[in-house]
Amino acid sequence: MAAFIEAILQTFGIEPDLEDRKSKTKPNGKKPPAEEKKQYLEPEFTKVRVVDFDLKELVVLPREIDLNEWLASNTTTFFNLINLQYSTISEFCTGEICQAMTACNTIYYWYDEKGKKTKCTAPQYVDFVMSLCQKLVTDEEIFPTKYGKEFPNSFESLVKKICRYLFHVLAHLYWAHFKETVALELQGHLNTLYAHFIVFVREFNLVDPKETCIMDDLSEILCTPAPLPALTPAPSATAPSPSSQNHVTER
Ligand SMILES: [Zn+2]
Repeated sequence: MAAFIEAILQTFGIEPDLEDRKSKTKPNGKKPPAEEKKQYLEPEFTKVRVVDFDLKELVVLPREIDLNEWLASNTTTFFNLINLQYSTISEFCTGEICQAMTACNTIYYWYDEKGKKTKCTAPQYVDFVMSLCQKLVTDEEIFPTKYGKEFPNSFESLVKKICRYLFHVLAHLYWAHFKETVALELQGHLNTLYAHFIVFVREFNLVDPKETCIMDDLSEILCTPAPLPALTPAPSATAPSPSSQNHVTER
């Protein structure tokens, strides 16, 4: 979409400054990194997915399943998959290359247990995230697996915390390591994982939209179910096909 807008602006002789405006509104006042072009938004890459159906069907709470059980099982799965996806490019995410945990124009700082803000490199940040998530999802008091064991009162807020951190890792993967992901031909997995995760956190309001808005451009493209070629209406058709209805109703 950005490329399309740029093309229109250029047609009218207007210099596009979409990125400039963004950088001026940045809270930390630092200049964004040089690689401003979001390669991951190019249609060539966004069309690549491992599955092509409405992910919403996968995330809605099935009848007969307890909400907390469902949140626990999905959160644990997302933690494992995002950890695995990050591991595919971790050799490129070094303290020299990724001196801060960046995504779009945002720098994430780590807050330790006492609430002290620390600036750290991206691999350190991801390590903090994964260690914390591992500790939480394997804690029988927080993510109980034994029959009859209750979830703690803090369960939902801890799930939200995990999802927020996992979102930071996904955003960093797109922002800083999309080229390497493409080189490994893993962009279909990343796109599918990202879309599934976003549809899930939206369904249960697990991450504040203010947090995820930096990636809204990608989310809107990936979270819209892809039209099925067989259902594409003929040019003469007057009634909307099921696939075009999907597009209209999707957020
Ligand atoms: Zn990195």
